[in-house]
Amino acid sequence: QKAELLKLVEQKTVTTDDHHVELAANIGSPEDLVGVLANGAEGVGLFRTEFLYMGRDNFPTEEEQYDAYRQVLERMEGKPVVIRTLDIGGDKHLSYLDMPEELNPFLGFRAIRLCLDNQDLFRTQLRALLRASVFGNLKIMFPMIATIEEFQQAKAILEEEKAGLRDRGVAVSDEIEVGIMIEIPAAAMMADQLAQVVDFFSIGTNDLIQYTMAADRMNERVAYLYQPYHPAVLRLIHQVIKAAHAKGKWAGMCGEMAGDPIAIPILLGMGLDEFSMSAASILPARQLLGRMSREEAAKHTDSVLSMSSSKQVEEFVRRTFEQIN
Ligand code: PEP
Ligand code: MG
Repeated sequence: QKAELLKLVEQKTVTTDDHHVELAANIGSPEDLVGVLANGAEGVGLFRTEFLYMGRDNFPTEEEQYDAYRQVLERMEGKPVVIRTLDIGGDKHLSYLDMPEELNPFLGFRAIRLCLDNQDLFRTQLRALLRASVFGNLKIMFPMIATIEEFQQAKAILEEEKAGLRDRGVAVSDEIEVGIMIEIPAAAMMADQLAQVVDFFSIGTNDLIQYTMAADRMNERVAYLYQPYHPAVLRLIHQVIKAAHAKGKWAGMCGEMAGDPIAIPILLGMGLDEFSMSAASILPARQLLGRMSREEAAKHTDSVLSMSSSKQVEEFVRRTFEQIN
């Protein structure tokens, strides 16, 4: 079993009908790369940079951040690395940043909302990212985008910082893709419009499920409503992938769902391009995908989307894809 999996470390992820998908890893710090490399990730699909800010009593400096980003880019040796700008607020707090108590923190002042309002903080992070960009294949991602204006503002600030660095003679890569997390239902619904302005989408199902089902992801009493296979969630995901492809952009997923063996056949069928997960899930996912046909999986997309409940979807997937059992 284990030996079988280890054979896959050096391999690409290819289905029986020769379709390649990228299996990437989620990380919280450069130290996580040991596990990422040992498990044969084809990239980093989500670097949650908030961990650089947490567990300390002041903001990380531009230099400290630059070192961390550069290290990750260098150690990934040209493989894609998606670094997400600060996603603080909600359940994550900083002792040194005054954040007023909110009635609904998950619907409150967090992530890109906070960064657009605290531009010094945001610009420092962007400069560190831009300076590190020449050491690898950097993609920058903004979290919690609800509207096209938020993206445009964030992108404009990024462009200003890029121009500022270049004026000072600092090298910045020309090839940085700039994308967004799709984790708010409004953004999923507007994916066709957003796809015209971004370079990629990464679907954040951890939040997308909680907002779609109106079920707090931390609250056990409503955990029964937190349903990754609910057709409402699946329809949004499908819409996002289609919208990206219609504009020639790629769509990934970096929520927990991307590594779930029940979800994988559905996502493969929908055409998801990149699956980003915890390092430990990569080899099992590669093995599973290597036993499935993209074309076969795609034949079931319409029936799954027309089902009426999660339970029905799950039973159907278990019955149809014997590889997962
Ligand atoms: C998500 O919401 O799915 C996600 C990947 O972001 P986080 O879990 O950090 O909120
Ligand atoms: Mg999220």
